[in-house]
Amino acid sequence: MKNLLSRLNQDIRLILKDIGNIADERGVAVFVVGGLVRDLILGKENFDLDIVVEGDAITMAEAIAKRKKLEWVCYREFGTATVIFSKGDRVDFATARKESYAHPGALPKVVAGSIHDDLFRRDFTINALAVRINPVRLGVLIDDFSGVQDLKAKRIRIMHDQSFIDDPTRILRAIRFEQRFNFRIEKHSLNMLNLALSKKAFQTVKPERIFEEFRKMLSEGTPQKSLKRCDSLGALDFLGIKLKNLSESLRLMEKFSYSSRPLQKKLFKDNPIEAWLVYFMILVEHFGEKDLDTIFKRFNLKKIDRNKIASSKQGHVVLKKLKAKRLSPSQIYRLLSPLSSEAISFLRIKAASHRILVRRIDQFFLNYRAVALSINGNDLINFGLSSGNRIGMILAQILDEKLDGLITTREEEILRAKTLAVQG
Ligand code: ATP
Repeated sequence: MKNLLSRLNQDIRLILKDIGNIADERGVAVFVVGGLVRDLILGKENFDLDIVVEGDAITMAEAIAKRKKLEWVCYREFGTATVIFSKGDRVDFATARKESYAHPGALPKVVAGSIHDDLFRRDFTINALAVRINPVRLGVLIDDFSGVQDLKAKRIRIMHDQSFIDDPTRILRAIRFEQRFNFRIEKHSLNMLNLALSKKAFQTVKPERIFEEFRKMLSEGTPQKSLKRCDSLGALDFLGIKLKNLSESLRLMEKFSYSSRPLQKKLFKDNPIEAWLVYFMILVEHFGEKDLDTIFKRFNLKKIDRNKIASSKQGHVVLKKLKAKRLSPSQIYRLLSPLSSEAISFLRIKAASHRILVRRIDQFFLNYRAVALSINGNDLINFGLSSGNRIGMILAQILDEKLDGLITTREEEILRAKTLAVQG
């Protein structure tokens, strides 16, 4: 484990070196912690730089930002700060802390502590690892809870028996890491997890916090594995509504998980879609409006996400129309453009065995979606049209004609606009 830090790329090593030097000047100990250390040991890439300071993290971050002339943001109420290094690398600083829970599910009470305390408050032993980055004892691994042994044994182990009761979102985290790494939740931890579920632990947490972990679960490469595991443990009850046709959903999710990467590359290179939304659309496919609304409210989903998910509900109608024998590019555009890219990706999975549908959807993304007019409403007003509905209709008609290849140049757009404007 000696040369753990040497596995990092040169840019990150230089950042850590700067932080270590400034920490030494200030007489504080600093550590890189959490997922990055775990992934270093596993030989996996991770660029999340989380620094723990045995001292005041905010003044430490400020000192670095000032010395290196970097942007930084501080979150005083949390005692944390983020420094943005030159190539855009964001480094999070937190004061080493000790936590206690006033009651199960509450946000913890926090006081400053040692690195040992800070590691003890974490979720699992595999995440309770730190590496010192001060020049003296640089690279020393702090593994007070045998996290390395658990990593080697492919085990997810909680820090203490109360862990899932204190913070039930860890139930979803345990399952997520277990499935991501192909590990196993260790026997005693699994007993504690089941105990927490039997005590209805999820009811003690704010639904938004649970959903945030659920969203992370759905953002993994193969979330269907985690969902299957959740289902077998009875850990999906937090949704409050029973999922219908889960096995069918898992099958669709599997399909999407295989195609998601090539799809992102082929269709969404410049505009990546949020894969978790597609998985969520699959899960709630059979929900009626009322159940969907209950979920939206319960988890306080953002309006933009609600709209995207709700638009997937138009799916079967759109797919039916998209099956028509002949469709012009503008007709395909009009059918698909009101839907979010995520909703269309959901349809693409539903239509996977229907080659024409898939081809039409891909054509929409690759050829039609970016088509835009070079004239706008102001041009039409300059041609003597008063503002209002007609302007929108004329522009839409010209766009359709452009999509269908009847118009190509700006001059043709102007000519057509003038003709349509006179037609009244
Ligand atoms: P990922 O690779 O998914 O980003 P991560 O381990 O970095 O994994 P984060 O959610 O970014 O996960 O959390 C960073 C660290 O914060 C974790 O490694 C863990 O030590 C700690 N942590 C996060 N959530 C909790 C929690 N609910 N309880 C205790 N510790 C937590």
